[in-house]
Amino acid sequence: MDKTQIKIDYKKCGPNARIDPRECRKCMNVCDPAVFLMHPTLEEHKDPYNPEKWLVTPVWPCMCTGCMRCAQVCPEQAITVKAQRSLYQLRQP
Ligand code: SF4
Ligand code: SF4
Repeated sequence: MDKTQIKIDYKKCGPNARIDPRECRKCMNVCDPAVFLMHPTLEEHKDPYNPEKWLVTPVWPCMCTGCMRCAQVCPEQAITVKAQRSLYQLRQP
């Protein structure tokens, strides 16, 4: 079975982009199965206890239902989803 592919264009959302994901979070807010994680980048930080650079990463693509809400709400059109049937859907009655 093909795997669901979710890509985020970090030129549009991320530490070197116009949008800081911490100020948006829309994709995370609309995703029921919680596919996304927000985390500091692996780049060096001045203060590792107060990282300044953050990314959103789709860490659980196998849970994606293909609803496309994340792509629809993203103000930067930074998200591309190629969905297959997910574990989340297989769990539903
Ligand atoms: S398509 Fe739907 S389920 Fe999949 S990552 Fe986006 S919001 Fe979540
Ligand atoms: S909705 Fe788009 S711009 Fe907003 S945090 Fe998610 S990927 Fe970034």
